[in-house]
Amino acid sequence: EYPVYGRIDGPIVMIGFGSIGKGTWPLIERHFEYDADKFTVIEPDARQANFLKQHKINHRQVALTPENYRDVLGELFAEGKGFCVNLSVDTSSLDLMRFCREMGVLYIDTVVEPWAGYYFETTDNAARTNYALRQKVRDEKASNPGGTTAVSCCGANPGMVSWFVKEALLTLAKDTGRDVDVPQDRAGWAGLMQNLGVKGVHIAERDTQARRQPRPRDVFVNTWSVEGFIAEGFQPAELGWGTHETWFPENGHRHDTGCHAGIWLERPGAITRVHTWCPTPGPQFGFLVTHNEAISISDYYTVGDAAEPKFRPTCHYAYHPCDDAVLSLHEMFGSGTQQKVHHILTEDEIVEGIDELGVLLYGHEKNALWYGSRLSNAETRDLAPYQNATGLQVTSAVLAGMVWALENPEAGIVETDEMDHARCLEVQRPYLGPVEAHYTDWTPLQDRWEHFPEDIDESDPWLFRNVLAT
Ligand code: NAD
Repeated sequence: EYPVYGRIDGPIVMIGFGSIGKGTWPLIERHFEYDADKFTVIEPDARQANFLKQHKINHRQVALTPENYRDVLGELFAEGKGFCVNLSVDTSSLDLMRFCREMGVLYIDTVVEPWAGYYFETTDNAARTNYALRQKVRDEKASNPGGTTAVSCCGANPGMVSWFVKEALLTLAKDTGRDVDVPQDRAGWAGLMQNLGVKGVHIAERDTQARRQPRPRDVFVNTWSVEGFIAEGFQPAELGWGTHETWFPENGHRHDTGCHAGIWLERPGAITRVHTWCPTPGPQFGFLVTHNEAISISDYYTVGDAAEPKFRPTCHYAYHPCDDAVLSLHEMFGSGTQQKVHHILTEDEIVEGIDELGVLLYGHEKNALWYGSRLSNAETRDLAPYQNATGLQVTSAVLAGMVWALENPEAGIVETDEMDHARCLEVQRPYLGPVEAHYTDWTPLQDRWEHFPEDIDESDPWLFRNVLAT
């Protein structure tokens, strides 16, 4: 009953078997034909060893480093074909994708990750931005165009949300009575967004998954990688900077080089709050945590010259993680110390909740449109093993990206904005629960606290000045 999307010739190597790796493996098993004895997991954590052994999965218990990755991967991919699925932390996406392309091996990851130490040991905040990390991958694409496909940043976000932006644009076009053809290239999509009057996009997420047990003190609880979340939460807040913005944050910085689409703030993202909106809560605070898609979407939808654009949307993440993660962040930033115990909520202990992850397109004639997945943990348990709702939104995007790569093996380095969104969503949709469009008349000027004066500009409700909570 599950479609098999094709045959992967040669070895499959999964790097990292944490919450996302463990959830992706059953989808690969379900949807591809391959030689199971050529499937290997590279995972340094001994706690995964027994599961891998029981499931007869080849296991290399080693941490990839700048010194050993060529040897380890070179040996596993000696045939010069296959697929490398990178779902780890602390490995350089750029180095791994470059090496895979040299060997003729397809590659996918869900984030532009640097080698261990980079996030905390780099002192220059501009260098710690996702803008800087992403730009290196874009530069690699520019200097080595075409060749073996490497899909960069293909999880839920970054990843699936870029496909949602396109679906949302087509929905908005239809609902405003426009008869548009589906754009066939970047310029077409950017022109469509501009013509629809969209000023910006929030990646608007509310995770309501919860377990019965209250969060113990000194434990960081999350629904996906705690390490990954702490790392990105400590990066500077970052956003794609749109052409409708009339004000510039005092602690804001632009970049002198690269695509010019983003700015960063001299402040960690995980304690920078923004006013946003999701269907379940309505108005809510989200955290302005930096993400690759904030830059890639603003870049992709730019009309005109990169440095002097005619149109560019503002774009950023507005993330309300699960309540236990909010408390964990509060405790961590308040104490100035990272909790030593980390815990990712499993599908079996979660007793309620959904991960509501979508894109909020705002500023157009229908005000704002949220388009996204409202997947519950309960439904997830029926759909696929070893993951919660957050996990399945990510792993099913990895599956879709792998299918696309297999069907387009010579596409070079691509981001999800550059892939066929309809094909990818066709593969992913059975795993997303309800995928819905919701219009709202909410704006960031509503529900303010009238007793306290705020630095807002009522001439345009959708200015970032009004979105940023002070
Ligand atoms: P996790 O922390 O559960 O697992 C990461 C795994 O990587 C761990 O098992 C760890 O032992 C392993 N690892 C650490 N160092 C390694 C090294 N040097 N070599 C090989 N493996 C190493 O994280 P997760 O929740 O599974 O997330 C995995 C990755 O996916 C992270 O980079 C995360 O940021 C990313 N992610 C992306 C999205 C998205 O939507 N785009 C969503 C969730 C997670």
